[in-house]
Amino acid sequence: MVAEGKRDPKVGSSVAADVMTRAVESKDTIKINLVNNDPYVDFDSYFKERVDVGDLDSVAQGSPELRAAIVVHVIEENIQANTIKREQPGLDPMARFNLAHDRASSTEATMFGAVSRQEFTGKNSIFLRFVDGQQNVKKEFTVNFETPDALTRTPRVVP
Ligand SMILES: [Zn+2]
Repeated sequence: MVAEGKRDPKVGSSVAADVMTRAVESKDTIKINLVNNDPYVDFDSYFKERVDVGDLDSVAQGSPELRAAIVVHVIEENIQANTIKREQPGLDPMARFNLAHDRASSTEATMFGAVSRQEFTGKNSIFLRFVDGQQNVKKEFTVNFETPDALTRTPRVVP
């Protein structure tokens, strides 16, 4: 990780740096298993504690920024889930996930100068729209999932 005071502010994302710093400095354990082209994981699975590095690599070919945003989302979601678990111990796991997911989506949106993320899921695609407080579109992505072997869903950012 980056030692304090060593980060070049001209390189990379300050949002990503902040999320990683909070994760590293946290006393909580964040467990993420890295898988590669897991047919049952699109980007990540919160409940299976998995991140698909094959999916991240594929997305980065179309947009390195979107890959960074997904990583930020996953780390923030886990930080928030741990926080929520302490603050609201009676909350069931799905409600805890939904709350953590919403908070992670907001943090992810700040990567694009936005405040929230809208998501529209199709059969083999996903459309992501990042909007500011006035609903102005700051960034949009269409991601298609190709199925070359009918099992491995490989996300590709549509140019
Ligand atoms: Zn999420």
